[in-house]
Amino acid sequence: MKEIILLKQGEMILKGLNRRSFEVRLENGVKRAVKPYGEFTVRSVQSVIYVLPQGECDIDGAFAACENVFGIVSLSRCAECEKDIGAIYETAKAYLGAELTSAKSFKVETKRADKRFPMSSIAVSQEVGGNLNEDFPACAVDVHNPQLTITVEIREDAAYIHGNPVRGAGGLPPGSAGRVVSLLSGGIDSPVSTYLTARRGAAIIPVHFFSKPYTSEMAKQKVLDIAKILAKYCGKMVVEVVPFTHIQEEIAKQCPEEYGTIITRRFMMAIADKIALDNRCGALITGENLGQVASQTLASLACTDDAAETLVLRPLIAMDKREITEWAVKIGTYDTSILPFEDCCTVFTPRRPSTKPRLDKIKLAESVLDWDALIDEAIAGIEHITIS
Ligand code: ATP
Ligand code: MG
Repeated sequence: MKEIILLKQGEMILKGLNRRSFEVRLENGVKRAVKPYGEFTVRSVQSVIYVLPQGECDIDGAFAACENVFGIVSLSRCAECEKDIGAIYETAKAYLGAELTSAKSFKVETKRADKRFPMSSIAVSQEVGGNLNEDFPACAVDVHNPQLTITVEIREDAAYIHGNPVRGAGGLPPGSAGRVVSLLSGGIDSPVSTYLTARRGAAIIPVHFFSKPYTSEMAKQKVLDIAKILAKYCGKMVVEVVPFTHIQEEIAKQCPEEYGTIITRRFMMAIADKIALDNRCGALITGENLGQVASQTLASLACTDDAAETLVLRPLIAMDKREITEWAVKIGTYDTSILPFEDCCTVFTPRRPSTKPRLDKIKLAESVLDWDALIDEAIAGIEHITIS
């Protein structure tokens, strides 16, 4: 039996004249996702994308990969058959027999895109449903709230039959919302903020601050491993690894201890800002979360924001740690995030960090540093690591 994959687009239907460019991005995202699983033709017809295997293909692998493509709201694996009522019934019986055996109730729903097909949608549903009900008497017909909906789609080339669709990743197609810099640490939060922003169609430039020898090669590798997991969803990315040791040493040497963390974070923002301007990015993304630590009080966040001209977005600001952790588990970054390697933020941590910093005091405290020279030195030392 020949199988294909049908994907439904989500919000792009709302996008009016831009719609075709969204569709092309989505088709390209799907093509990239299924490529490792064989040769497929991908084409869209009226907000449905057909993924058609050409010869031997790994449909299981391709289907799982499509579940991660942003812009897809639902996916169905379908059996293809001739546009003939007898063939449609026989195919539904063979293809969905196991599901009809385990479900308590079902209905058949028909969509007739090919208006030349001689039977009405209702007549097809009644005929196929009636026959299946005789074959599987333990599975009752329930047209209002069935456990299993069997969909028959009669289209130009063929008829397609599938059971309940699987929920897709949602969001908008890769890159359709422009580019952002995402500050990526090895923690639980920032991989999630990166994922959620990519899901809304942003192309991601991850930036990681690295303080060798205070943080180890293992800590850097951990971030690259996280980036690799994120690349499953975001596609190819170049991680910008910024040497941060000298800046942290200077802050520790010359600034009041209680302001150390905020000044460190202001440097991160200023450097990320420069990278964003150089790469024409529209925003900086962080995994900050209201009240989680001293540097994430409203007063601290305001001081951090001030160091960047670019818009700063914090997708996790109002989420509970539990919700963030659930996302991390779902997207597969959690197990790597909890590996016990230090982050540069945990180096030189003040004993009593300020939770209500005042910007004027912070600016005075940091004015002893040669801000421009330190930033230029860090940017000159950036290592660009491609993750695919
Ligand atoms: P996370 O779990 O993402 O590490 P966190 O709760 O540990 O977050 P902080 O360490 O205060 O919080 O960092 C807040 C945010 O600053 C992070 O979510 C991330 O966006 C950014 N950040 C922190 N450390 C780094 C780093 N070494 N490189 C890049 N960004 C960082
Ligand atoms: Mg952290």
